[in-house]
Amino acid sequence: MKNKKILISGAGIAGLTLAYWLEKFGFEPTLIEIGDHLRNEGYMIDFFGSGYDVAEKMGILPTLQERDYFVEGLSFVNKKGETVAKMNIRKLRKLLMDRAFAFMRGDLEDTLYKKIEGKVPILFQTTITTITQNSNGVEVTFNNGRTEKFDLLVGADGARSNVRQIVFHNEKAFNHYLGYYTGAFIIENSFSYNANFYSYVEPGLQASIYAIRNNKLATFFVYKSEDKGWINPKLRKKSLMDTYKNVGWIIPELFDALPEDAPVFLDSLTQIKMKTWSKDRVTLIGDACDCVTLIAGQGSSLAMAGAYVLATELKKFGGDHTQAFAQYEKRLKPEVEKIQKMAEGLTGSFVPNTKLGIWFRNQFVKMMFWPGIRSFVLKQFHVSNIFSEKK
Ligand SMILES: Cc1cc2nc3c(=O)[nH]c(=O)nc-3n(C[C@H](O)[C@H](O)[C@H](O)COP(=O)(O)OP(=O)(O)OC[C@H]3O[C@@H](n4cnc5c(N)ncnc54)[C@H](O)[C@@H]3O)c2cc1C
Repeated sequence: MKNKKILISGAGIAGLTLAYWLEKFGFEPTLIEIGDHLRNEGYMIDFFGSGYDVAEKMGILPTLQERDYFVEGLSFVNKKGETVAKMNIRKLRKLLMDRAFAFMRGDLEDTLYKKIEGKVPILFQTTITTITQNSNGVEVTFNNGRTEKFDLLVGADGARSNVRQIVFHNEKAFNHYLGYYTGAFIIENSFSYNANFYSYVEPGLQASIYAIRNNKLATFFVYKSEDKGWINPKLRKKSLMDTYKNVGWIIPELFDALPEDAPVFLDSLTQIKMKTWSKDRVTLIGDACDCVTLIAGQGSSLAMAGAYVLATELKKFGGDHTQAFAQYEKRLKPEVEKIQKMAEGLTGSFVPNTKLGIWFRNQFVKMMFWPGIRSFVLKQFHVSNIFSEKK
């Protein structure tokens, strides 16, 4: 086997999954992570499709099952908090053959991390400043000034990938902004909303809440905006509050309950589209090359699928990166492109821009499990599974 020494930048969902499979197949991966610990952002992810299959192959379904939030429904509420339409999430799961979970992103990372703990070195507070490659390997300089040579480098460092920026340059061409920002934070649950997800919508914006363990309440916002790029963490609370200050329901109370120093997630919905994901000895996985955005509800699943496919192709070709990278892209890219297209099409119904649009969305939610409409729903969501033909 050649090219055994592999550096993975980013210990997120894609990076941790790749590290697991590479180590299992006899490679020698090293992970670097810019944060001082694993990111534990406060938002829930739906998890189904190809990633579910990879999780099954990794033997982590029982742990994920324990962390699953088996929520009954999503209630769309009006200004008074009264339910005006309700989506039965349990029925939605049945449509997915019950091969689906909903858990906090941090729960998935923690579960993946436990599979590689003690087996794969992880260097925290570490990022790459320079990358030079030739036919023998990739030389990287880290932020502490140290230089090291690896056989291959994989950028698994998310939608704003550092590796992509250093190696592929053409950022403007890769970023496809969908016209919305999303925010999330967690507060103490002193509210009487406990059983479901609750979502409040006005034209161009939505705000949702759901109770999570340890008496916490998670919030989730999506709103229309011009592209403001990356938002400094110090400005996020104010930025969200400015957008939602005149919005009804319990929104002002949610902000009142948010401590000044609490972490707030806020970023744009921007898809990443690239002609090719690899350049010589460097390749990208997960959001770094194929971000589909939360609208698709499949980003983490795709991140795990991409990691698994890349590792299996490297194994199949005895570490030959040229063949493995080409085959990895060939297997995954067509599926990613379909999901990205689907997500673009769904953006308007995720956050309707007019009162009429909201009314139509509510009617659709009421009818979505009627015979005949169910298959339309599944098609709309383009539930992806790149392994399905082989099962
Ligand atoms: C609000 C919200 C809701 C979502 N809901 C869903 C959902 O329901 N279902 C779903 O499947 N997906 C969902 N997603 C998408 C999902 O979170 C992503 O697709 C997934 O996290 C991608 O995994 P990744 O490992 O590629 O990137 P990330 O999870 O972004 O991980 C990247 C890692 O790289 C690290 N990193 C960044 N820069 C550097 C650097 N310079 N050097 C070293 N390390 C670095 C980061 O700290 C992080 O640990 C949602 C996303 C958001 C924002």
